Amino acid sequence: MTELRQGPIGDRWVIVAPMRGRRPSDLVTVGKESTELSSDDCPFCPGNEDKTPPEIYRVSNPDGSWQVRVVPNKFPALSDDYRGLEQADAGGFYQRMNGLGTHEVIIENPDHEKGIPDLPLKSVETLIDTFAVRLQKLKQDDRYRYILLFENHGKAAGASLSHPHAQIIGIPIVPQAVMSELRQAHSYYEDKKNCLFCDLLKNELRSRERLIEETDEYVVFAPYASCFPFEITIMPKEHVHDFTEISQGQRREFAVILKRTLHRLKEVLNDPPYNLMMKSAPNVSEGSGNQDCFSAMQDSYHWRVEIVPRITVMAGLELATGLYVNPVPPEEAARYLKEAGN
Ligand SMILES: [Zn+2]
Ligand SMILES: [Zn+2]
Repeated sequence: MTELRQGPIGDRWVIVAPMRGRRPSDLVTVGKESTELSSDDCPFCPGNEDKTPPEIYRVSNPDGSWQVRVVPNKFPALSDDYRGLEQADAGGFYQRMNGLGTHEVIIENPDHEKGIPDLPLKSVETLIDTFAVRLQKLKQDDRYRYILLFENHGKAAGASLSHPHAQIIGIPIVPQAVMSELRQAHSYYEDKKNCLFCDLLKNELRSRERLIEETDEYVVFAPYASCFPFEITIMPKEHVHDFTEISQGQRREFAVILKRTLHRLKEVLNDPPYNLMMKSAPNVSEGSGNQDCFSAMQDSYHWRVEIVPRITVMAGLELATGLYVNPVPPEEAARYLKEAGN
């Protein structure tokens, strides 16, 4: 039984998801030999479809074989087994609610070895369409107030299987980090009557110091205050708060830019582990939860993708204070990444 917990210090919620049948030492993976599965044993490889929970969605080829599969996560962080959300204070001091949520895995393609940078563009387009289909579907369930699509690539980034896959988690709360972004965007909008992210883009395009690539629809840049070396943001030029609302043309161009950006990263850092996160507006209707920042979200929030290579480790300073030490100036990272595409 998973649950969400909140202590009295800070606003942070934690998912407590017990992994039954495992010993404490099984959880210690850092520094251990990687136990890479061959494609014979990989549950995501063709021929092993019975090793995953029953399929939710697939894109098939004309011959009946699959291009993309979506399945529930076998070890979900959250579960939709709950009828409703029961929030309770646990003994008056702590808050808890049941671990209502959803956790899906998107198997990006049948080839065990090929990630987004290596796939034909057509396959990346199919994958992006699948992202949109699943996110749209989950948005219809208003129990999920925040839906995150992400990809963990490589063991150091948290991927337990090397076969390329993305994940979608739907949760019953809007987490603290997202709330803080929304509040900041909202107060900027109240003050300037402009979207904070649109203004940030204008600024990056003016200075061009951290610019990696610009297309008709997107800007790729290294954020000014990157916490991690070679951090990358892909941001649409058109103001849209929610990824699922972009046009078909914008999806097509997103496939091109995503493939190319991950290719640059692969080239410069020799296929590093990374986390890719799709930051899109929460699944809340206007005025819900009496939060001001939800009411103007369409105007004040702006979807984007953030890619964080995991080539440094978080240490005591970062954990205690949220203050990061980044050994590579983003201007320098941008130069390397820009050149990699040429
Ligand atoms: Zn595989
Ligand atoms: Zn904007």
